[in-house]
Amino acid sequence: MPTTSDFERMLRGVALRVTRPRVAVLAAVNDHPHADTDSIIGIVRKGIGGVSHQAVYDVLRALTAAGLLRRIEPPGSVARYEARVGDNHHHVVCRSCGAVADVDCAVGATPCLTASDAHGFVIDEAEVIYWGLCPGCSTATSS
Ligand SMILES: [Zn+2]
Ligand SMILES: [Zn+2]
Repeated sequence: MPTTSDFERMLRGVALRVTRPRVAVLAAVNDHPHADTDSIIGIVRKGIGGVSHQAVYDVLRALTAAGLLRRIEPPGSVARYEARVGDNHHHVVCRSCGAVADVDCAVGATPCLTASDAHGFVIDEAEVIYWGLCPGCSTATSS
């Protein structure tokens, strides 16, 4: 589990000033992968109090732009954030309750980048969303 000094090092690594809200947001997303903005605001406020919604939005935007966080937005879902960046992993999303889980790529280390026909594009990212029902929801519908 990364500590506060790890988060401070990550911020300095991307030339962002270390601030309490930035560290708190990094810690919140790290502890709660795929949390939406409202949950992150709640967690950050519980941790350090007195942070405006706008401040958290701004921090999320800055950390995402700096590559410390990844923003995912499955169609029909609110934006969610995660601290697992840079590995181009995919997600499985529950159609019923919106639960999200990570899915490692099926093929190789820099995976899923080989389109069967790239139409001449230079592709640097592939995003796959698997849709279905989470264990909780599939049990609920079958019983
Ligand atoms: Zn579900
Ligand atoms: Zn993820």
